[in-house]
Amino acid sequence: MPIVAVIPEPNAIAELREVAEPQLENNSALLEVDLSEVCGTDVFLQQGRLTGVPYPLVPGHVSVGRLAKVRGQMLDVEGKAFSEGDQVTFLDVHRTCNACWYCVIGKATTRCPARKVYGITYGLDDGLCGGWASHIYLKPGTRLIRLQAPAETFMAGGCALPTSLHAVERGEVKIGDTVLVLGSGPVGLNAVIMALLSGALRVLTIGAPQSRLDAAVKAGAAAALNIETNDEEARLSWVLEQTNGRGADVTIEATGSTEAVVQAMRFTRDAGKVVIVGQYTDHGPLSINPHTDLNRKHLDVRGCWGSDFSHFYRGAQLISEPGRSGPWREMKLKTYSLRRANEALADVAAGRVLKALINPHAD
Ligand SMILES: [Zn+2]
Ligand SMILES: [Zn+2]
Repeated sequence: MPIVAVIPEPNAIAELREVAEPQLENNSALLEVDLSEVCGTDVFLQQGRLTGVPYPLVPGHVSVGRLAKVRGQMLDVEGKAFSEGDQVTFLDVHRTCNACWYCVIGKATTRCPARKVYGITYGLDDGLCGGWASHIYLKPGTRLIRLQAPAETFMAGGCALPTSLHAVERGEVKIGDTVLVLGSGPVGLNAVIMALLSGALRVLTIGAPQSRLDAAVKAGAAAALNIETNDEEARLSWVLEQTNGRGADVTIEATGSTEAVVQAMRFTRDAGKVVIVGQYTDHGPLSINPHTDLNRKHLDVRGCWGSDFSHFYRGAQLISEPGRSGPWREMKLKTYSLRRANEALADVAAGRVLKALINPHAD
């Protein structure tokens, strides 16, 4: 019988449960999970801080595994059918309708009201829909990707990979730009890599703790500053020193702290671009001075919500290319069994690990 680690209700600890194996509908599959992950969003899910989340919930939105059973047909983007035994990952977003105003007219499918997310807005009552499990039920219409890369390398990117790819795309990084990344968690770290791949000349990063900043430098950041020992004024002077007194061309905010949003605006040069991707959870309001922080700076500030299949697909392609996957192969991972999911949550919440993975086969 499949085993899951489930969060029964907000603020409760994760517990193991056995659940019945699902009856497969036509054109669906059962995935045997090799690796899933624990990210900052999972910490907020455990604390009940996201709206529209059904509990009991099995978290884990990005996972890798092997197709244990396929019923009917599931096709990749090339029209090739998946077979039992294939190593795959899948886009956590499901049921994007391709019929509503946002999908068809606005071309902003991440705002489609019909979309559901495995491990976030699909709860246990919707079936085996989270990665902290031995198995996941891949419902009809789930978008799978055949994965050539080792599972660990892909999961080193995990959900941060498509998120950061989308954010850097929103920032329209140009060849030769200086990009500032605020936040040194998984999204920030992946944003450093993606900005360099997009042609940034230098990537600067501001975050904490020091171990994560060291990882950012290892991933290619030209310089890193610790927020724990530098206040806003010191951070601003540091950015100006690095940018001939102008500020960054593009700033990616990936922090989870509201004050970083206005700092992102202040650390960016006039007529530059700011992408806000670190506020997936509601961290409350913020006050800005619209005259000095926005209007006079002639700033372009953009939000970035979720990711679509193109981001996920291109991320998976990158990681599958041996000449490009170096930064992810070298990323430090810590793997936990299902019964240690609470420990993983605590370590992620405290920033003690760079990237926490769940291996349902481990003891
Ligand atoms: Zn739609
Ligand atoms: Zn995540």
